[in-house]
Amino acid sequence: MDTKGHFPLQAFRSLETPFYYYDTAVLRQTLEVVSAEASKYKFQIHYAMKANANRRILSIIRGYGLGADCVSGGEIRAAVEAGFPASKIVFAGVGKADWEINLGLDYNIFCFNVESIPELEVINQLAVEKGKTAHVALRINPNVEADTHKYITTGKEENKFGIALCDVDKVIDVAQKLTNIKLIGMHFHIGSQIMEMNNFAGLCSRLNELQDQLEARHVLLEHINVGGGLGIDYYNPDRQSIPDFVDYFKTFRNMLKLREGQTLHFEPGRSVVGQCGSLITKVLYVKEGAKRTFAIVDAGMTDLIRPALYQAYHKIENCSSEEPVEKYDVVGPICESSDCFGKDVLLNKTHRGDYIALRSTGAYGEAMASQYNLRRLPQAYFSEDILENL
Ligand SMILES: *Cc1c(COP(=O)(O)O)cnc(C)c1O
Repeated sequence: MDTKGHFPLQAFRSLETPFYYYDTAVLRQTLEVVSAEASKYKFQIHYAMKANANRRILSIIRGYGLGADCVSGGEIRAAVEAGFPASKIVFAGVGKADWEINLGLDYNIFCFNVESIPELEVINQLAVEKGKTAHVALRINPNVEADTHKYITTGKEENKFGIALCDVDKVIDVAQKLTNIKLIGMHFHIGSQIMEMNNFAGLCSRLNELQDQLEARHVLLEHINVGGGLGIDYYNPDRQSIPDFVDYFKTFRNMLKLREGQTLHFEPGRSVVGQCGSLITKVLYVKEGAKRTFAIVDAGMTDLIRPALYQAYHKIENCSSEEPVEKYDVVGPICESSDCFGKDVLLNKTHRGDYIALRSTGAYGEAMASQYNLRRLPQAYFSEDILENL
């Protein structure tokens, strides 16, 4: 067994690279902690499927009793196929198409997280046509800070997401008049990869103010959904492979003043699946450039777009070499200069054929893969299968 990340290199030799390797033990341990901690407080967890909708991953997650947070009709379908009960499916998104709303109505999903008045009216109309009542939560933009990359903050006034605080009263009035809408809750999601518990505490304070405001007009909503966003340690994937759900849930437990009968819901994505995945790629060439040395690997931004899209950091390891470290720019084969996984990366001296692991790629990795340049989509393998067959 290799000491770095404990990858079964011997088994990898029979697999075509690049591929995602999922450590299902890490996933299961994470799910055990999430469900145990959440059940202490009777919190409801809906896994944010967009982070990773691999069928096998979904089926493992479903096995721990989590619900699903979907952002498209395709995700609703995949959630149902994976066995998530419709009564635990929530559906979010600024631009829900009619067919997607109809699908949600047909399945009687738990809740539509609604982001505007026109959307409320369309859902009501479609529900009237089906003779159904749509359960709805208002997605409110709480205008709080999230210390994260600007492309992944969602809870500031300038973002496209949610209903502005100043419009909440007006939207509730509209919702209460619509015949086939039942307003059951409020929804928030302030961003992703948030490491500062203070940001979540800020959300709680804003929510408390809003609850007071609603109480003054005798509105009590049964379900409060605070979204996802808990970050993971990309720099030390082995030091803390399970995110600090204890502290995270405690922050809400201590800061948020729930009213009697209210249930708190969460939608974690990255924190559930991020650390269980690694993208495994092979070195095609080591190229000495004029100024830099390039390790050209067979994975590219089509397999993992986060570095190109968000300047995201992923720890990169050479699993095949123990030689002294040298500096490399680790780049893919795609015809784009942004197709670069890391600059000045310290790797054990690298040769053609070495296996390279891009760590912490379980979330927004495989799910965001594309076929640009007519490339194959990456395959996925699971530790529990591989280790069984060794
Ligand atoms: C993306 C998203 C999530 C999950 O975010 P993570 O940072 O992966 O936890 C949860 N809720 C909504 C509405 C989202 O759009």
